Amino acid sequence: MDEHDISCPYCGETIGLLIDCSVEHQQYTEDCQVCCSPILLTVTATADGELSNVDAIQENG
Ligand SMILES: [Zn+2]
Repeated sequence: MDEHDISCPYCGETIGLLIDCSVEHQQYTEDCQVCCSPILLTVTATADGELSNVDAIQENG
């Protein structure tokens, strides 16, 4: 698991995530720790298990 900070697409606060880098591509929702809104996360990792990219967008838009 890797720690990664993102900015919440709703409230703009920085929140820390624990990301499983053993999966090369995954998409899931996680509630913001500050405003509790559902954030749609798209996570990409390399074949070596290195975190490559994290996109955080509003679930419904
Ligand atoms: Zn938020």
